[in-house]
Amino acid sequence: MAGRNKELANRKAPARRRLPAAEAARIEAIFARLAEANPEPKSELRYTNPFTLLVAVVLSAQATDAGVNKATPELFAIADTPEKMAALGEDRVREAIKTIGLFRNKAKNVIALSQLLIERHGGQVPQDRDALTALPGVGRKTANVVLNVAFHQPTIAVDTHIFRVSNRLPIAKGATPEAVEKGLEAVVPEKYLLHAHHWLILHGRYVCKARKPECARCILYDLCKFKEKTA
Ligand code: SF4
Repeated sequence: MAGRNKELANRKAPARRRLPAAEAARIEAIFARLAEANPEPKSELRYTNPFTLLVAVVLSAQATDAGVNKATPELFAIADTPEKMAALGEDRVREAIKTIGLFRNKAKNVIALSQLLIERHGGQVPQDRDALTALPGVGRKTANVVLNVAFHQPTIAVDTHIFRVSNRLPIAKGATPEAVEKGLEAVVPEKYLLHAHHWLILHGRYVCKARKPECARCILYDLCKFKEKTA
């Protein structure tokens, strides 16, 4: 617990940006509506503990959550800790996840990260972005998902959906995921930061789709400034 408190204390609060009142009100309204429609958004990935969440997120790179969820229940039933995963070995992990894209490389990473968790972190998933991104196959986005979903830290993991939605509405414009992440952290009202990541992903996945956004049924229609919005 002392370690966790130290990690939380070391975490820098994101820089906030002061917005014109009308813009702040528009962004507040966007999140108020998303919150009202889905007060407790959840990850669509299946997991049983922080370790299986970490593995599921690693497996979901360039794959769908649904595809990952088909393969993981059997794997997690026999290996839900780094020790059990490392003992299972790369060949059996590869076999278990062979329906997921890039499975060879991902199996290698899952074994290597399990071994590192045992060696460096006593078999626990660290609650710290730098420690997480030092693990094989774990980038900033994966680390942010784990910190948010498993440890309830107000991180925003910018994936393709969040990137698109955030630039379209816009909430925070940026040319890179990291620029959008920083922009969102600066303008999303603090009370919405914890769930902002899920709301924006789900909005992008099911409504504000890449090729054909479903503007006619979008609850944010009147708050959206996207020039090409339809309907
Ligand atoms: S109105 Fe259309 S473009 Fe704007 S957020 Fe909604 S779905 Fe996306």
